[in-house]
Amino acid sequence: MKREESIEYFVECARKDFSFVEKNLSQIINEIKESQRKELNYIEEFDEESVLLQLNELKKSFENKDSKYNGKLFGVPVTVNDAICVKGIESKAGSKILKRYKPLFDATVIQKVRSEGGIILAKTTQDEFGFGSFSINTEKVPKNPFDNECSCGGSGGGAGGFTAYTKSFHIALGESTGGSIACPASFCGCVGFTPTYGLVSRVGLIDYAGSLDKIGVIGKSVSDASLLLEVISGFDENDSTSLNNGFERKEVPIKRIGVVKDFFDNSDESVKKIVGEKINELKKFFEVEEVSLPLNVEYALSAYYVIATSEASTNLAKFSGLRYGVQGIVEGKHFDEYFSEVRSNEFSEETKRRIILGTFTRMSGFREAYYLKAMKVRTVLIKEFNDVFEKFDALIYPSMLTVAPKFSEIEKLSPLQNFSMDICTVPPNLAGLPHISINAGFVNNLPVGLMIVAPHFGENKLYSIAKVIEFE
Ligand code: GLN
Repeated sequence: MKREESIEYFVECARKDFSFVEKNLSQIINEIKESQRKELNYIEEFDEESVLLQLNELKKSFENKDSKYNGKLFGVPVTVNDAICVKGIESKAGSKILKRYKPLFDATVIQKVRSEGGIILAKTTQDEFGFGSFSINTEKVPKNPFDNECSCGGSGGGAGGFTAYTKSFHIALGESTGGSIACPASFCGCVGFTPTYGLVSRVGLIDYAGSLDKIGVIGKSVSDASLLLEVISGFDENDSTSLNNGFERKEVPIKRIGVVKDFFDNSDESVKKIVGEKINELKKFFEVEEVSLPLNVEYALSAYYVIATSEASTNLAKFSGLRYGVQGIVEGKHFDEYFSEVRSNEFSEETKRRIILGTFTRMSGFREAYYLKAMKVRTVLIKEFNDVFEKFDALIYPSMLTVAPKFSEIEKLSPLQNFSMDICTVPPNLAGLPHISINAGFVNNLPVGLMIVAPHFGENKLYSIAKVIEFE
């Protein structure tokens, strides 16, 4: 990527001449409208008035040279995954049950973006509550910009799709529980940066599974994605799982990288070829050796889907048609009847499946056998990663086993086959490890993603390796 295409360059120009901000914003607004006309479904909610108000505010900052003017994101449009609360803007995590829910507050990450001079542009489409890998479990299904018959990935398909679609300066905020940043980044040819669990505040994130959820970033390049991650990371006293660490971009020495053979060998031939070529190029810079993660390959998916659905089923109990979003007709109904009616009408099939599964796995009598056991398995899987990191700075493998599948192929998948598509993204997510997916090349015009995983707080290792790959 050329420097003139980077957000950092844009910010430098914007500080000298405000028309950069105005031109870029009007171009990206036109792109949003064009994508809506073409029904590409990247955008869940776009409120032009609020965007123009922000532009006016920034113009004042430009004149006064205040802290926003000096901010790292001065004038940069940022789209927001629908699960992240934006004050006054419908925020519904892709769910019908949250229609008309307009939060009274900004999520911490939104506050941080605003205080650095960023513009909150629009909400992007996603699978309902983050449940899925193809963004099909929602009303507006985003279409892959490289081939409209294919998925953008999920659950943050709108974020990946729009990042690839726009030609303007822009970065996206995403969410990952088990891979919802890496998967769309891979299928849409972008960079998806998921931080260590706890590095970024979850305050204002409509939760899927508390012990797994992370807010991260999708951008066009490693430097764009890292810049936004730098802005949103850091301790938040209002988040009990927030850590006392931040992230500042810095190149660090890298010696040895492990290629995870299990994932590599199981991917499609075409993916193997493209990722294999990139790995060969890396041998010029680092020692590269094969490694295996047999326990993660065997148990990560099962442990993840037990933990994720267990936590999700309790998190979703609050959506009953009383406090937030949709309201049903109460008259003459017992509470149970009312509650069931709203939930039956408004939740998708996939959400109901997960509530039933997750309620079962933590029911008394079953909790020991499923939820608690999965938590123990998780500890073993984290240890497997940590042992490997004694020898390697980072691990590398294909982000997804395939390129973006066609919607017609996805329809044929059973729920279990659907869950299995996450085999490469779930292990680092379950272990709370930072990971980055970057584009490695194309097969028949569809992007192929390459995953790099680092130890906890190894964001700068990812940054350093990903930069080498990007410029190779
Ligand atoms: N595909 C995974 C799931 O359905 C991950 C989703 C996510 O990260 N939000 O659980």
